[in-house]
Amino acid sequence: MSTLYTQKDHSKIPELEHRNFRNDDFWTKIPGWANITRGEFADFRWQSKNSIKKVDQVEKILGSRVTKEFMDDLRMGQKKTPMNIRITPYVFSLINWDDPLNDPLRKQFLPVGSQFLPDHPMDQEDSLGEDTDSPVPMLTHRYPDKVLFLPTTICPVYCSYCTRSRIIGGSTESVEKETYGANQKKWDDVFAYLARSPLVEDVVVSGGDAYMLTPAQIKYIGENLLKIPHIRRIRLATKGIAIFPQKVLTDDEWVGAVKEVHDLGRAFGKQVVIHTHFSSPNEITKWSQMAMDRLFSLGITVRNQAVLQEGVNNHVDEMVLLTRQLGFMNIQPYYVYMHDMVPGCEHLRTTLKEGEELEKAVRGTTAGFNTPTFVCDLPGGGGKRHIASYEYYDDENGISVWKAPYVKKDQMFLYFDPIHKLSEDAQKRWANEGDRNAMIEEAKKKA
Ligand SMILES: *Cc1c(COP(=O)(O)O)cnc(C)c1O
Ligand code: SF4
Repeated sequence: MSTLYTQKDHSKIPELEHRNFRNDDFWTKIPGWANITRGEFADFRWQSKNSIKKVDQVEKILGSRVTKEFMDDLRMGQKKTPMNIRITPYVFSLINWDDPLNDPLRKQFLPVGSQFLPDHPMDQEDSLGEDTDSPVPMLTHRYPDKVLFLPTTICPVYCSYCTRSRIIGGSTESVEKETYGANQKKWDDVFAYLARSPLVEDVVVSGGDAYMLTPAQIKYIGENLLKIPHIRRIRLATKGIAIFPQKVLTDDEWVGAVKEVHDLGRAFGKQVVIHTHFSSPNEITKWSQMAMDRLFSLGITVRNQAVLQEGVNNHVDEMVLLTRQLGFMNIQPYYVYMHDMVPGCEHLRTTLKEGEELEKAVRGTTAGFNTPTFVCDLPGGGGKRHIASYEYYDDENGISVWKAPYVKKDQMFLYFDPIHKLSEDAQKRWANEGDRNAMIEEAKKKA
């Protein structure tokens, strides 16, 4: 047989690294789960039940694999973070516990005190103005033809950088929250509003996370939205596939409900898709690929929305690998977001310039339809804009000025780079309120 057809070991060819899906029993390296079988690990109930929700559990499950110093740092982090801890055994055991401080997954879900930076002075709890643009509770209607519906405030994991930290998960030591769980009674008001809003064609069902909706709730939401004649597209948003692929593999009722809503949409000539949220190639394993194989075979389209983050994916190699792996699994990389300007995330933000450089590097590495658009969701509710479509960018002082004519006519929007990444002189200017206001006014004038 010709060597042409011999299966090569892809791992030796960097260009093909994205085809290697980790398939070892990686969780058995965690002392508390050393004896967990593949079958147990695959069970979504086991994953939910064994999710880590407290710092003490981290210590218990890791035993001697974690230092006292790290645990103290983690405890200090709990005093500052706006988010509760919740992390599935799947993600927890993908963290490199030999070097947790530098691990991209640890950075997303288990914030440590030593990494926090002072919040940017222009941060806001509701940075995107979602509550301002809300005609009925749980709904943001900003764009003419698409809306954001937040039927639940709970998630299978809590990301320490969540843009909705003001409502998602429970209260923490630093933030009091009014979370509403999955408050089904109020959903009917949302459906009624949508029924009398003929311009709306597109509904993003987010939260919170659609993984936390019961099969009955998925069907209830799906049926009520699909029966509104002018609604053509529904997206169910869940980080689940990235951090808990076992649910897609073993929770047949949940998958069945999504499939039912998808098929009902198809019968009406409407789209029902899933939007997920992978941010790092370290989240991707054979489990992710198997989960995607299942959804793909059911005919369900999945797209990805990543957040650009310092030390998680702000390197060309990581971003290219993430993009290619997603494409290989039949997930369409849709967006990479600039980090929102919400409190408690300054250490994870990057400059707009980094975003632009990364977009340039990623473009051309794979199919155009599998190349993510890098966007900035404008503080103050201007909506998502392509990263290079600002009116003016003062990269020395980290100030960009934007317009969003179709969303809010005549209004200017501002995005700011993290101050610690600016030159020393620029940092001094930011420290002085007079200088700061003058710089901002100057940038607006130039726009
Ligand atoms: C992101 C978002 C949407 C959907 O926007 P796309 O750019 O189509 O993904 C709709 N409404 C709100 C309020 C949003 O934030
Ligand atoms: S899954 Fe989404 S909504 Fe939930 S905590 Fe993470 S970023 Fe926030």
